[in-house]
Amino acid sequence: MQNIGPLTEFLNSQMPAALEMLRQMVGINSFTANPDGVNRLGRFTAECFAPLGFTAETVPSTNRQWGDHLVLTRRGRSARSIALISHLDTVFPPEEEARNNFHWQPEGDRIFGPGTHDIKGGSVMIWLVLAALRTYAPEVFEDITWKLIWNSSEECFSPDFGDVCRAHFDRETQAALVFESEGRAGKERRLVVARKGRGTWRVAVSGRAAHAGGKHGHGANAIVQLGQTLQRVAALTDYARDLTVNVGTICGGTVLNRVPHEAVAEGEFRTFTPEVFAHARAGLLALAGRGEVRSPADGYACEVKVEILTECRPWPRNPGTDGLYGVWKQAGDELGMPMNCEDRGGLSDGNLLWDAAPTLDGLGPWGDNDHCSERSPDGAKLPEFVDVSTFVPKAVLNTAAILKLCNASK
Ligand SMILES: [Zn+2]
Repeated sequence: MQNIGPLTEFLNSQMPAALEMLRQMVGINSFTANPDGVNRLGRFTAECFAPLGFTAETVPSTNRQWGDHLVLTRRGRSARSIALISHLDTVFPPEEEARNNFHWQPEGDRIFGPGTHDIKGGSVMIWLVLAALRTYAPEVFEDITWKLIWNSSEECFSPDFGDVCRAHFDRETQAALVFESEGRAGKERRLVVARKGRGTWRVAVSGRAAHAGGKHGHGANAIVQLGQTLQRVAALTDYARDLTVNVGTICGGTVLNRVPHEAVAEGEFRTFTPEVFAHARAGLLALAGRGEVRSPADGYACEVKVEILTECRPWPRNPGTDGLYGVWKQAGDELGMPMNCEDRGGLSDGNLLWDAAPTLDGLGPWGDNDHCSERSPDGAKLPEFVDVSTFVPKAVLNTAAILKLCNASK
Protein backbone atom coordinates (compact mmCIF):
# COMPACT_ATOMS: atom_id res chain seq x y z
CA MET A 1 0.00 0.00 0.00
CA GLN A 2 1.93 2.99 -1.27
CA ASN A 3 -0.42 5.85 -0.60
CA ILE A 4 -2.87 5.45 2.23
CA GLY A 5 -4.25 8.99 1.91
CA PRO A 6 -7.33 8.03 -0.15
CA LEU A 7 -8.02 4.96 2.02
CA THR A 8 -7.89 7.04 5.20
CA GLU A 9 -10.11 9.64 3.58
CA PHE A 10 -12.61 6.98 2.51
CA LEU A 11 -12.70 5.48 6.00
CA ASN A 12 -13.16 8.91 7.57
CA SER A 13 -16.11 9.47 5.24
CA GLN A 14 -17.65 6.18 6.46
CA MET A 15 -17.33 7.03 10.16
CA PRO A 16 -20.70 8.80 10.57
CA ALA A 17 -22.45 5.69 9.20
CA ALA A 18 -20.22 3.42 11.30
CA LEU A 19 -20.98 5.34 14.49
CA GLU A 20 -24.70 5.33 13.76
CA MET A 21 -24.47 1.56 13.33
CA LEU A 22 -22.58 1.29 16.63
CA ARG A 23 -25.13 3.55 18.38
CA GLN A 24 -27.96 1.28 17.30
CA MET A 25 -26.05 -1.88 18.29
CA VAL A 26 -25.28 -0.46 21.74
CA GLY A 27 -28.96 0.48 22.09
CA ILE A 28 -30.01 -3.17 21.82
CA ASN A 29 -29.45 -4.96 25.11
CA SER A 30 -27.73 -8.23 24.21
CA PHE A 31 -26.92 -9.70 27.61
CA THR A 32 -26.09 -13.39 27.03
CA ALA A 33 -29.18 -14.49 29.01
CA ASN A 34 -31.46 -12.16 27.00
CA PRO A 35 -31.92 -14.28 23.84
CA ASP A 36 -34.55 -11.92 22.37
CA GLY A 37 -32.06 -9.04 22.55
CA VAL A 38 -29.22 -11.16 21.17
CA ASN A 39 -31.42 -12.28 18.24
CA ARG A 40 -32.57 -8.71 17.60
CA LEU A 41 -28.94 -7.60 17.45
CA GLY A 42 -28.25 -10.54 15.10
CA ARG A 43 -31.01 -9.36 12.73
CA PHE A 44 -29.76 -5.78 12.84
CA THR A 45 -26.19 -6.93 12.18
CA ALA A 46 -27.34 -8.97 9.16
CA GLU A 47 -29.12 -5.86 7.82
CA CYS A 48 -25.94 -3.81 8.21
CA PHE A 49 -23.93 -6.23 6.08
CA ALA A 50 -26.59 -7.02 3.47
CA PRO A 51 -25.64 -4.01 1.26
CA LEU A 52 -22.10 -5.48 1.07
CA GLY A 53 -23.59 -8.64 -0.45
CA PHE A 54 -23.78 -10.91 2.60
CA THR A 55 -26.50 -13.49 3.16
CA ALA A 56 -27.48 -14.53 6.66
CA GLU A 57 -27.93 -17.85 8.38
CA THR A 58 -28.64 -18.38 12.05
CA VAL A 59 -27.54 -21.42 14.04
CA PRO A 60 -29.37 -22.17 17.29
CA SER A 61 -27.17 -22.37 20.35
CA THR A 62 -27.03 -25.79 22.00
CA ASN A 63 -28.05 -24.00 25.20
CA ARG A 64 -31.66 -23.01 24.48
CA GLN A 65 -31.53 -20.17 27.00
CA TRP A 66 -29.13 -18.30 24.72
CA GLY A 67 -29.71 -16.62 21.38
CA ASP A 68 -28.71 -17.82 17.91
CA HIS A 69 -25.23 -17.65 16.45
CA LEU A 70 -25.07 -15.62 13.24
CA VAL A 71 -23.20 -16.61 10.06
CA LEU A 72 -22.95 -14.14 7.16
CA THR A 73 -21.45 -15.37 3.90
CA ARG A 74 -20.29 -13.70 0.72
CA ARG A 75 -19.10 -16.25 -1.82
CA GLY A 76 -15.98 -15.30 -3.74
CA ARG A 77 -14.71 -16.36 -7.14
CA SER A 78 -11.81 -18.40 -5.77
CA ALA A 79 -11.64 -21.16 -3.18
CA ARG A 80 -9.76 -18.87 -0.81
CA SER A 81 -11.66 -17.91 2.31
CA ILE A 82 -11.19 -15.63 5.32
CA ALA A 83 -13.26 -15.80 8.51
CA LEU A 84 -13.95 -12.70 10.61
CA ILE A 85 -15.13 -13.46 14.12
CA SER A 86 -17.06 -11.40 16.67
CA HIS A 87 -19.79 -11.97 19.25
CA LEU A 88 -23.28 -10.63 19.79
CA ASP A 89 -23.57 -10.83 23.56
CA THR A 90 -22.47 -8.54 26.41
CA VAL A 91 -22.18 -9.09 30.16
CA PHE A 92 -24.75 -6.42 31.12
CA PRO A 93 -28.33 -7.39 32.13
CA PRO A 94 -30.99 -4.80 31.16
CA GLU A 95 -31.68 -4.03 34.84
CA GLU A 96 -28.02 -3.20 35.44
CA GLU A 97 -27.91 -0.88 32.43
CA ALA A 98 -31.00 0.91 33.81
CA ARG A 99 -29.73 1.01 37.40
CA ASN A 100 -26.37 2.51 36.43
CA ASN A 101 -27.83 4.68 33.65
CA PHE A 102 -25.33 2.95 31.40
CA HIS A 103 -26.19 3.84 27.82
CA TRP A 104 -24.68 5.35 24.68
CA GLN A 105 -22.88 8.44 25.91
CA PRO A 106 -20.35 10.31 23.76
CA GLU A 107 -17.90 12.59 25.60
CA GLY A 108 -15.40 14.17 23.25
CA ASP A 109 -13.51 11.40 21.45
CA ARG A 110 -14.81 8.80 23.87
CA ILE A 111 -18.07 6.89 23.76
CA PHE A 112 -19.25 5.12 26.89
CA GLY A 113 -21.80 2.34 26.61
CA PRO A 114 -22.40 -1.39 26.94
CA GLY A 115 -20.39 -3.30 24.33
CA THR A 116 -18.78 -0.18 22.83
CA HIS A 117 -15.48 -2.03 22.68
CA ASP A 118 -16.43 -5.54 23.82
CA ILE A 119 -17.31 -6.15 21.07
CA LYS A 120 -19.81 -4.08 19.11
CA GLY A 121 -16.99 -1.70 18.18
CA GLY A 122 -15.21 -4.78 16.78
CA SER A 123 -18.27 -5.71 14.71
CA VAL A 124 -18.34 -2.19 13.26
CA MET A 125 -14.59 -2.51 12.54
CA ILE A 126 -15.38 -5.57 10.38
CA TRP A 127 -17.88 -3.47 8.42
CA LEU A 128 -15.36 -0.65 7.90
CA VAL A 129 -12.64 -3.03 6.68
CA LEU A 130 -14.94 -4.81 4.22
CA ALA A 131 -16.32 -1.50 2.93
CA ALA A 132 -12.73 -0.33 2.38
CA LEU A 133 -11.75 -3.54 0.58
CA ARG A 134 -14.79 -3.33 -1.71
CA THR A 135 -13.92 0.21 -2.71
CA TYR A 136 -10.10 0.04 -2.79
CA ALA A 137 -9.40 -3.57 -3.69
CA PRO A 138 -12.50 -4.82 -5.55
CA GLU A 139 -10.49 -7.65 -7.12
CA VAL A 140 -9.58 -9.07 -3.74
CA PHE A 141 -13.02 -8.37 -2.29
CA GLU A 142 -14.69 -10.36 -5.09
CA ASP A 143 -12.08 -13.11 -5.12
CA ILE A 144 -12.22 -14.15 -1.47
CA THR A 145 -15.09 -15.96 0.24
CA TRP A 146 -15.85 -13.99 3.38
CA LYS A 147 -17.36 -15.74 6.38
CA LEU A 148 -18.44 -13.49 9.22
CA ILE A 149 -19.40 -15.46 12.31
CA TRP A 150 -20.91 -14.05 15.52
CA ASN A 151 -21.02 -16.06 18.72
CA SER A 152 -24.31 -15.56 20.59
CA SER A 153 -22.82 -16.44 23.95
CA GLU A 154 -19.07 -15.78 24.04
CA GLU A 155 -19.26 -14.22 27.49
CA CYS A 156 -20.54 -17.54 28.87
CA PHE A 157 -17.79 -19.58 27.18
CA SER A 158 -20.23 -20.98 24.64
CA PRO A 159 -19.04 -24.57 24.24
CA ASP A 160 -20.55 -25.16 20.78
CA PHE A 161 -19.23 -22.11 18.90
CA GLY A 162 -15.97 -23.80 17.91
CA ASP A 163 -17.98 -26.56 16.20
CA VAL A 164 -20.23 -23.99 14.48
CA CYS A 165 -17.14 -22.29 13.05
CA ARG A 166 -15.52 -25.55 11.98
CA ALA A 167 -18.71 -26.55 10.19
CA HIS A 168 -18.79 -23.23 8.31
CA PHE A 169 -15.09 -22.70 7.60
CA ASP A 170 -14.12 -23.42 4.00
CA ARG A 171 -11.30 -25.84 3.27
CA GLU A 172 -8.95 -23.05 2.26
CA THR A 173 -9.59 -20.77 5.22
CA GLN A 174 -6.49 -18.63 5.41
CA ALA A 175 -7.26 -16.84 8.63
CA ALA A 176 -9.71 -16.59 11.51
CA LEU A 177 -9.53 -12.93 12.53
CA VAL A 178 -11.01 -12.09 15.93
CA PHE A 179 -12.16 -8.52 16.56
CA GLU A 180 -11.79 -8.19 20.34
CA SER A 181 -10.26 -4.86 21.30
CA GLU A 182 -6.57 -4.16 20.80
CA GLY A 183 -4.04 -3.93 23.59
CA ARG A 184 -2.04 -0.77 24.18
CA ALA A 185 1.29 0.03 25.76
CA GLY A 186 1.99 3.73 25.26
CA LYS A 187 1.79 4.31 21.51
CA GLU A 188 2.28 0.65 20.73
CA ARG A 189 -0.70 -1.31 19.42
CA ARG A 190 -0.82 -4.87 20.65
CA LEU A 191 -2.42 -7.81 18.91
CA VAL A 192 -3.31 -10.98 20.76
CA VAL A 193 -1.37 -14.11 19.80
CA ALA A 194 -2.11 -16.42 22.75
CA ARG A 195 -4.68 -16.70 25.51
CA LYS A 196 -4.88 -18.67 28.69
CA GLY A 197 -7.16 -21.67 28.87
CA ARG A 198 -9.51 -21.92 31.82
CA GLY A 199 -10.83 -24.83 33.80
CA THR A 200 -13.36 -24.64 36.62
CA TRP A 201 -13.48 -27.08 39.49
CA ARG A 202 -15.45 -28.07 42.55
CA VAL A 203 -14.11 -29.72 45.71
CA ALA A 204 -16.81 -31.29 47.90
CA VAL A 205 -16.02 -32.82 51.28
CA SER A 206 -18.35 -35.14 53.12
CA GLY A 207 -17.55 -35.74 56.75
CA ARG A 208 -19.74 -37.02 59.58
CA ALA A 209 -22.13 -34.87 61.56
CA ALA A 210 -22.20 -35.02 65.35
CA HIS A 211 -23.59 -33.00 68.27
CA ALA A 212 -21.03 -30.31 68.96
CA GLY A 213 -21.54 -30.54 72.73
CA GLY A 214 -22.36 -34.18 73.47
CA LYS A 215 -20.48 -36.14 70.79
CA HIS A 216 -17.89 -33.81 69.31
CA GLY A 217 -15.32 -36.59 69.07
CA HIS A 218 -17.69 -38.66 66.95
CA GLY A 219 -17.72 -36.04 64.19
CA ALA A 220 -15.42 -35.74 61.16
CA ASN A 221 -15.35 -32.02 60.39
CA ALA A 222 -15.88 -31.41 56.66
CA ILE A 223 -14.99 -27.72 56.90
CA VAL A 224 -11.67 -28.41 58.58
CA GLN A 225 -10.88 -30.99 55.89
CA LEU A 226 -11.87 -28.62 53.11
CA GLY A 227 -9.60 -25.94 54.61
CA GLN A 228 -6.65 -28.33 54.48
CA THR A 229 -7.43 -29.51 50.96
CA LEU A 230 -7.78 -25.93 49.72
CA GLN A 231 -4.27 -25.10 50.94
CA ARG A 232 -3.06 -27.72 48.50
CA VAL A 233 -5.31 -26.42 45.74
CA ALA A 234 -3.91 -22.91 46.19
CA ALA A 235 -0.36 -24.26 46.28
CA LEU A 236 -0.76 -25.55 42.70
CA THR A 237 -0.38 -21.94 41.54
CA ASP A 238 2.97 -21.56 39.78
CA TYR A 239 3.66 -18.06 38.46
CA ALA A 240 6.88 -19.25 36.80
CA ARG A 241 4.73 -21.43 34.52
CA ASP A 242 1.92 -18.86 34.23
CA LEU A 243 -0.41 -21.17 36.12
CA THR A 244 -2.93 -19.64 38.51
CA VAL A 245 -5.35 -21.68 40.59
CA ASN A 246 -7.96 -19.55 42.27
CA VAL A 247 -10.29 -20.58 45.10
CA GLY A 248 -13.40 -18.57 44.27
CA THR A 249 -16.26 -19.56 46.57
CA ILE A 250 -16.72 -21.65 49.69
CA CYS A 251 -19.63 -22.80 51.79
CA GLY A 252 -20.18 -25.43 54.41
CA GLY A 253 -21.97 -26.43 57.57
CA THR A 254 -25.50 -25.67 58.68
CA VAL A 255 -25.76 -24.61 62.33
CA LEU A 256 -23.26 -23.81 65.07
CA ASN A 257 -24.01 -26.67 67.44
CA ARG A 258 -23.19 -29.35 64.93
CA VAL A 259 -19.92 -30.76 63.56
CA PRO A 260 -20.43 -29.99 59.86
CA HIS A 261 -20.85 -32.95 57.55
CA GLU A 262 -20.57 -31.04 54.25
CA ALA A 263 -18.39 -28.32 52.75
CA VAL A 264 -17.92 -27.26 49.13
CA ALA A 265 -15.55 -24.88 47.37
CA GLU A 266 -15.33 -23.89 43.72
CA GLY A 267 -12.75 -22.07 41.67
CA GLU A 268 -10.86 -21.97 38.41
CA PHE A 269 -7.41 -22.43 36.96
CA ARG A 270 -5.76 -20.75 33.99
CA THR A 271 -2.62 -21.21 31.98
CA PHE A 272 -1.17 -20.76 28.46
CA THR A 273 -0.02 -24.21 27.37
CA PRO A 274 -1.84 -27.53 26.99
CA GLU A 275 0.93 -29.28 28.99
CA VAL A 276 0.61 -27.06 32.06
CA PHE A 277 -3.18 -27.17 31.72
CA ALA A 278 -3.10 -30.98 31.85
CA HIS A 279 -0.69 -30.86 34.80
CA ALA A 280 -3.01 -28.57 36.76
CA ARG A 281 -6.05 -30.68 35.97
CA ALA A 282 -4.27 -33.84 37.13
CA GLY A 283 -2.99 -32.08 40.25
CA LEU A 284 -6.51 -31.10 41.24
CA LEU A 285 -7.99 -34.54 40.59
CA ALA A 286 -5.20 -36.15 42.62
CA LEU A 287 -6.49 -34.40 45.75
CA ALA A 288 -9.58 -36.63 45.76
CA GLY A 289 -9.88 -39.54 48.14
CA ARG A 290 -9.82 -40.15 51.84
CA GLY A 291 -8.96 -37.05 53.86
CA GLU A 292 -6.71 -36.77 56.89
CA VAL A 293 -9.40 -35.23 59.10
CA ARG A 294 -10.94 -38.07 61.04
CA SER A 295 -13.29 -38.66 63.93
CA PRO A 296 -11.15 -38.91 67.10
CA ALA A 297 -13.59 -41.51 68.42
CA ASP A 298 -13.34 -44.16 65.72
CA GLY A 299 -11.12 -42.80 62.93
CA TYR A 300 -14.00 -42.23 60.46
CA ALA A 301 -12.37 -40.18 57.70
CA CYS A 302 -13.70 -37.32 55.61
CA GLU A 303 -14.09 -38.04 51.90
CA VAL A 304 -12.82 -35.51 49.35
CA LYS A 305 -14.40 -35.37 45.86
CA VAL A 306 -12.92 -33.29 43.06
CA GLU A 307 -14.77 -32.47 39.84
CA ILE A 308 -13.64 -30.53 36.79
CA LEU A 309 -16.80 -28.58 35.86
CA THR A 310 -15.83 -26.89 32.60
CA GLU A 311 -12.75 -26.67 30.42
CA CYS A 312 -11.78 -24.17 27.76
CA ARG A 313 -8.42 -25.14 26.38
CA PRO A 314 -5.52 -22.69 26.05
CA TRP A 315 -4.59 -20.95 22.82
CA PRO A 316 -0.81 -21.39 22.86
CA ARG A 317 1.70 -19.57 20.65
CA ASN A 318 1.79 -21.48 17.35
CA PRO A 319 3.22 -21.06 13.83
CA GLY A 320 -0.15 -20.23 12.20
CA THR A 321 -0.77 -17.33 14.58
CA ASP A 322 2.85 -16.16 14.42
CA GLY A 323 2.67 -16.12 10.62
CA LEU A 324 -0.43 -13.91 10.65
CA TYR A 325 1.05 -11.63 13.27
CA GLY A 326 4.11 -11.25 11.02
CA VAL A 327 1.85 -9.97 8.22
CA TRP A 328 0.17 -7.40 10.50
CA LYS A 329 3.52 -6.36 11.96
CA GLN A 330 4.96 -5.79 8.49
CA ALA A 331 1.89 -3.78 7.47
CA GLY A 332 2.25 -1.75 10.66
CA ASP A 333 5.94 -1.09 9.96
CA GLU A 334 5.10 0.13 6.46
CA LEU A 335 2.37 2.39 7.82
CA GLY A 336 4.63 3.70 10.58
CA MET A 337 2.44 2.21 13.33
CA PRO A 338 4.40 0.77 16.25
CA MET A 339 3.14 -2.77 16.81
CA ASN A 340 3.68 -5.58 19.24
CA CYS A 341 1.92 -8.72 20.36
CA GLU A 342 0.69 -9.94 23.70
CA ASP A 343 -0.42 -13.11 25.46
CA ARG A 344 -3.71 -12.35 27.22
CA GLY A 345 -5.15 -13.91 30.39
CA GLY A 346 -8.83 -13.73 29.37
CA LEU A 347 -10.53 -16.13 26.97
CA SER A 348 -11.95 -15.36 23.55
CA ASP A 349 -13.20 -17.33 20.58
CA GLY A 350 -9.54 -17.55 19.58
CA ASN A 351 -9.22 -20.36 22.15
CA LEU A 352 -11.73 -22.40 20.16
CA LEU A 353 -10.33 -21.69 16.71
CA TRP A 354 -6.53 -21.51 16.65
CA ASP A 355 -6.07 -25.10 15.44
CA ALA A 356 -8.91 -24.90 12.88
CA ALA A 357 -7.35 -21.97 10.97
CA PRO A 358 -4.48 -19.54 11.64
CA THR A 359 -5.92 -17.17 14.24
CA LEU A 360 -5.13 -13.59 15.24
CA ASP A 361 -7.03 -11.52 17.83
CA GLY A 362 -7.16 -7.95 19.09
CA LEU A 363 -8.20 -6.53 15.69
CA GLY A 364 -10.89 -4.23 17.08
CA PRO A 365 -10.59 -0.56 18.05
CA TRP A 366 -9.13 0.51 21.37
CA GLY A 367 -11.22 0.96 24.49
CA ASP A 368 -11.07 0.06 28.14
CA ASN A 369 -13.04 -0.91 31.27
CA ASP A 370 -14.82 -3.75 29.53
CA HIS A 371 -17.31 -5.57 31.77
CA CYS A 372 -17.73 -2.40 33.95
CA SER A 373 -20.95 -0.37 34.12
CA GLU A 374 -20.48 1.83 37.20
CA ARG A 375 -19.44 5.45 37.26
CA SER A 376 -18.51 7.39 40.38
CA PRO A 377 -18.57 11.20 40.56
CA ASP A 378 -14.82 11.35 41.29
CA GLY A 379 -14.04 9.30 38.17
CA ALA A 380 -12.48 6.46 40.18
CA LYS A 381 -15.03 4.14 38.59
CA LEU A 382 -15.61 4.47 34.87
CA PRO A 383 -17.71 2.21 32.65
CA GLU A 384 -16.75 0.57 29.36
CA PHE A 385 -15.80 2.92 26.52
CA VAL A 386 -14.24 3.04 23.07
CA ASP A 387 -12.11 5.86 21.61
CA VAL A 388 -13.55 6.98 18.27
CA SER A 389 -10.22 8.12 16.84
CA THR A 390 -8.84 4.58 17.06
CA PHE A 391 -11.25 3.19 14.43
CA VAL A 392 -9.78 4.63 11.23
CA PRO A 393 -6.06 3.91 11.82
CA LYS A 394 -6.88 0.36 12.92
CA ALA A 395 -9.15 -0.14 9.90
CA VAL A 396 -6.31 1.08 7.66
CA LEU A 397 -3.95 -1.40 9.31
CA ASN A 398 -6.41 -4.31 9.05
CA THR A 399 -7.20 -3.51 5.42
CA ALA A 400 -3.51 -3.25 4.47
CA ALA A 401 -2.67 -6.49 6.29
CA ILE A 402 -5.54 -8.44 4.73
CA LEU A 403 -4.41 -7.26 1.27
CA LYS A 404 -0.87 -8.36 2.07
CA LEU A 405 -2.15 -11.76 3.19
CA CYS A 406 -4.28 -12.21 0.07
CA ASN A 407 -1.55 -11.09 -2.32
CA ALA A 408 1.02 -13.39 -0.67
CA SER A 409 -1.26 -16.41 -1.08
CA LYS A 410 -2.15 -15.87 -4.75
ZN1 LIG B 1 -15.47 -9.94 23.96
